[in-house]
Formats: sequence, C-alpha cells, structure tokens
Amino acid sequence: MEEELLRLEHIQKHFGDNHVLKDISFSAKRGEFITFLGPSGCGKTTMLRIISGLLAPDSGAVFLNGQDVTKLPPDKRNVNTVFQNYALFPHMNVEKNVAYGLKIRGVPKQERKRRVREMLSLVKLDGFEKKMPDTLSGGQKQRVAIARAAINNPSVLLLDEPLGALDLQLRKYLQSELKRIQQQLGITFIYITHDQEEAMNMSDRIYIMSDGKFEQTGTPREVYDTPKTSFVAKFVGMSNLLETEVVSQTGTDAAVSFEGVLFHVQTPYSIRSHKKVTLSVRSEKLWMRYEPCEPAIEATILENTYTNGIIKVKLETPGGNILTAVAQSGSAFFEVGNKVYAGFDPDGAVVVDIQEETL
Ligand code: ATP
Repeated sequence: MEEELLRLEHIQKHFGDNHVLKDISFSAKRGEFITFLGPSGCGKTTMLRIISGLLAPDSGAVFLNGQDVTKLPPDKRNVNTVFQNYALFPHMNVEKNVAYGLKIRGVPKQERKRRVREMLSLVKLDGFEKKMPDTLSGGQKQRVAIARAAINNPSVLLLDEPLGALDLQLRKYLQSELKRIQQQLGITFIYITHDQEEAMNMSDRIYIMSDGKFEQTGTPREVYDTPKTSFVAKFVGMSNLLETEVVSQTGTDAAVSFEGVLFHVQTPYSIRSHKKVTLSVRSEKLWMRYEPCEPAIEATILENTYTNGIIKVKLETPGGNILTAVAQSGSAFFEVGNKVYAGFDPDGAVVVDIQEETL
C-alpha cells in the first residue's frame, strides 16, 4: 500500500468572496481508505468535486497515478463518485444500472453479465438483477450505486456522505460492509462525512477539516488520542478544554495550575513557566471520587444522563467551568447537587493549540 496514487497540491478555491479551499495539499496511497471529516460547509464536497473533475480549482494541481489531471474532464479521469442520493437511473433495472459504465466502454454483453453478477455478489445483492430501483430499500439502492461506481475498476472511488440518508442501524451495518468491499476491491476510497463515528470506524487515515483547511491528519487512534487543536479535541469524541497555567516542567512532565489546583500532564513540548496552555481531557479520562483526593478539584453535579450503559455527568467547578465526565453504570450513583472530586492522570490530558511564543 506504499504507492502514491492521488495527490493534491496547493488547491485554492473561491466562490465569489467565499474562500472555500485554502491551500489544500494531501496525498493518498493505493488501497487506502481516507476520510475527510468536518462540519457542514467546511469545503469537503468542493474538494471531492475538484478531484473528480466536476469543478476546476482557482490554482493548484491534481495528480492521479503520477499524471497531472487538473485540466482533464471527469470522463478522462479514472475516478467515480457515489452520492448520498444514490443517483440511480430510475428507468433501468439493477443489472442495467450496474452495467452502464461497461456498456459505454463497449464491453461485450456476455462479459458485462458476468461482471455485473460478480459485482452484485460482492455487495450481497445476488439475484437482484431484474429489480427496478423504486422497489429497493435505501440500503439496497446504495449497494447498487456502489456496484455501479466500482465496476469500471476506478483508481479512486469518491464517496460523498453515502450513508447520510439511512437510519442509524443500517448505517452502522453498512460501515463495516463498505470497509469489507473496499478491502476486497483494493481501490482507494476517499470518503467524506461529518459523522466522526463513521470516520473512526472505517478509515485508515482521517483528515479533519475546518473552514477550508486541514486541522490535523492521522490514524483514527492518533487523532483521538493526541488531538493537536481544541477544534479536533471537540469534534472527535467528547473533550473538556481546560485553560491552565504552566507552573514548572521537568522533562516531559509539566505541572499546571487549573483554578489554583496543581495537576500534572505529559507533553512533548517544552513550555515556559507562567504561560497559559489549553489541555484537552477526554470525558472518559476525567475521574470522579466522593472522598477528597489529590490532585482533584471539588465540583458539583449539575446533570446526569444515562445512555447505552454509560452515565454522562455534567459538573460545575468553583470557578464556573463546566466539565463532562462519563462513568460506567453500576458505579457510584451521581445525583444532581452532590459534590465530587474530579481529576485526571498525567497521561489523561493533552496540550492543544500550542503557540510558538509559549515554547
Ligand atoms: P456539507 O457537509 O454541508 O455538504 P461541505 O463541507 O461539503 O458541506 P461544501 O459543499 O464544499 O461544504 O461548501 C463549502 C462552501 O462553499 C459553502 O459555504 C457553500 O455554500 C459554498 N459553495 C459550494 N458550492 C458552491 C457553488 N456552486 N456556488 C457558490 N458557493 C458554493
């Protein structure tokens, strides 16, 4: 999976005064599953359209298999797209929909039939050849759309929120199906979504986008465990962002003050004393005890909610900060109004938004 397949270099795109893509560069290897994850309007679809050739960038270049394809039309790039709304041809049965790309290329009928059968088997729609699109469920339509997009062996398959219109249970099932299909085909998938769970479940690498730029890239584990910015910490998983001041540092251990309580954090940065830094503490890393302990801050329980065996507890500190912690059900009962002692271990926090002048 080492070979570079797709590369974007310094892509800029404006719509009027709206600067939608701000110097985007990235590359994908053959067979990689890459997800662009970001909130609505951050530029994900625009980037996908530039890769497919439906839209031209203002400046920058797109390379596919080492060739500069920036000026090539969509049908001259070996790229296909799967859309959220399926975009099946309503008057054609499943077989004709899936075979469409092969027919355009002049593939003989018998071979078309064989390849459609293989592709339908891959997406687990054996025997669906003669069905019409309007007799299919949303999940089945999306499988047909994937089969149709993949049958020409594109170098890259672009997927624009393909599971967005489906209910939660089906979405979860199709996430693992998509991953299986991608691995069996060995095609590079570029997937866009604003659903962090979807991105975490399927991707080899995630590019987190905000306002036309990449905030961070890494494996799902890297972006979850070591967010570099408060945006990433908030967007992927549940995080508390604590404004602290560095008191001292010895090696990678920094002592920081939060509302006058001294905590320790492990950090690769050498931070000058008295500088302000933001810590991201995942909700599951913020522990709560009933007995006084150190280092911990006394806090009042404002709210508790119970979902899927997890209790989510909202706390207020004496300084008015609102923190969120999670606890497994069956542990101590977290009643509203109770006092608890909340804290975190040195490896339970990450320094984010580091600025040059603090180093
Ligand atoms: P979503 O998740 O909601 O689809 P997105 O991250 O895919 O969002 P884009 O569709 O790329 O975002 O849109 C980025 C910005 O560009 C938005 O402000 C959008 O309004 C604007 N935009 C997109 N296409 C056009 C267009 N054809 N003309 C003018 N503005 C556009």
